[in-house]
Amino acid sequence: CKGAGAMADPGADTDRVGATLRTDRPHAARMYDYYLGGKDNFPADREAAEQAIAAFPNARVTARVNRAFMTRATRHLAADAGIRQFLDIGTGIPTSPNLHEVAQAVAPDTRVVYADNDPIVLTHARALLTSTPQGRTAYVDADLRDPAAILDSPELQKTLDLSRPLALSLVAIFHFLPDEDDPYGIVRRLVDALPSGSYLVLTHGTADFDPGAEEFAAAYRQRGVPFQLRSRAEVERLFDGLELVDPGLLVAHRWRPDDDDSMSLLDAQVGLYGGVARKP
Ligand code: SAH
Repeated sequence: CKGAGAMADPGADTDRVGATLRTDRPHAARMYDYYLGGKDNFPADREAAEQAIAAFPNARVTARVNRAFMTRATRHLAADAGIRQFLDIGTGIPTSPNLHEVAQAVAPDTRVVYADNDPIVLTHARALLTSTPQGRTAYVDADLRDPAAILDSPELQKTLDLSRPLALSLVAIFHFLPDEDDPYGIVRRLVDALPSGSYLVLTHGTADFDPGAEEFAAAYRQRGVPFQLRSRAEVERLFDGLELVDPGLLVAHRWRPDDDDSMSLLDAQVGLYGGVARKP
């Protein structure tokens, strides 16, 4: 999905919807796609990802664990908590199964709004708009750092009913928000907009188990992508005011595992906390 041609800036690749992909610089969404074995990445992404993998050889394992956590948490909320609306911020490049596919397999009338600020995700948004006829999906091109732009967007307003409980999915995104971006204020503003009985689903990278994870984060920062790993206590603070559902905040593969394979992983191989919490 790229358009080429003669351009003054060879890195600024403009696609049909006019988004500037900046293929000369690594992007978090495309590096993550590379860890997952996807094809929507460019040489600058692969070079940065390989350096990050050299620092933290379990990056691919962690990406898969993260994706599997998203699937289990979504299925749990759809099947056991009766949640029928999801807001997923930091969606990433579509990867099978996408959140709406997981939730709609449980309840076909589920509505899902996706949001991401990366132009490459926007160019793939069509692959996220494959709702069941009974449900609905929408995509918002927006930045987590401006929660009002997401909450007030016409796409969200048309798709979700904010007077009824929903699940806010913030999976592998907050480590891209350093403290100067006010992550705690941002999560508060989002949670404040949700009614009682809503849920927060969140994963977050940590160096609590393997100091090599700090070098992984540094590989991003060196290339201009902000990245801040957080300790358990710092990740827990993102859930302030909410009630963590059983079994609490855990290294992601230990949260309600549905296969025995992932349980043989060590915490140091994963380096990612995951939790689900309910708004009282
Ligand atoms: N949630 C998906 C993808 C995680 S990759 C999953 O867990 O599988 C992180 C995603 O967050 C990327 O697609 C990146 O573009 C997006 N992202 C990072 N910072 C963002 C911001 N400030 N606003 C919106 N999206 C952001």
